[in-house]
Amino acid sequence: MADIQKYLRQTALPHIWCPGCGHGILLAAILRAIDAQGLDQDKTVIVSGIGCSSRASGYMDFNTVHTAHGRALPFATGIKMANPELNVIVITGDGDATAIGGNHFIHAARRNIDLTTIIFDNNIYGMTGGQSSPLTPQNSRSTTAPFGHIERSFDIAKLSVAAGATYVARGTSFHAKMLTDLIAKGIANKGFSVIDAISGCPTSFGRKNKMAQPSKMLEWQRDHAVTVQAAAKLSAEQLADKFLIGELHQEVAPEFTDEYAKVVERLKGGRA
Ligand code: SF4
Ligand code: MG
Repeated sequence: MADIQKYLRQTALPHIWCPGCGHGILLAAILRAIDAQGLDQDKTVIVSGIGCSSRASGYMDFNTVHTAHGRALPFATGIKMANPELNVIVITGDGDATAIGGNHFIHAARRNIDLTTIIFDNNIYGMTGGQSSPLTPQNSRSTTAPFGHIERSFDIAKLSVAAGATYVARGTSFHAKMLTDLIAKGIANKGFSVIDAISGCPTSFGRKNKMAQPSKMLEWQRDHAVTVQAAAKLSAEQLADKFLIGELHQEVAPEFTDEYAKVVERLKGGRA
């Protein structure tokens, strides 16, 4: 087991997360994945947006930037463009990434820029009191949908693939070891990687959806997640209320900073 204490800013602790929040498990999975990939702390940048998820960057002893709501990806894009040698990891919430940051998200995917984006997907705007996000499951309850959320949610994995991401995976805080491996593979991918990390928010989502106990949220993940391999043997009816976990998409495509460097080299040679 990796010693992840060395990656934590002890002076920034204790963290602000509620008892039973899944985000600590996600943070530990990221740190273990970074350790497994052998990344240099001084050459690794963590960029986060705004929300409960995005407080994670403050606890991590790397180069960290806690940015503006929905804007983690533009900051991360600028950092990667300025110095492509850096490992840049983005932490964002489901609301942060897919509502106010939705346009940034699809265009970062389209460019296939070498960033690893981990969506702390707790189905809700946690920090601001439980409003619906674009990933709030249909028919669940939120502050803004007290009688049930009638909108369909994005399938963020399919959206990522359609927009051009070259590595797309989903894990959960219940399947912490698998999540670590998926994040490590996302870091290893040379291109835009998305890991949809299902987390538990007992305070803002659970209490409205009969899962106020943190253990209930973990049991929900256990009972509704199906690996890609297991899903291949199940019917559409059996999969109706389930979601897939594991590696969902992988492809090789030109990476943005590489392509940009080629343009620079061409111009140095006097060719427009
Ligand atoms: Fe975690 Fe939800 Fe509390 Fe935010 S509001 S710290 S996501 S349990
Ligand atoms: Mg959220």
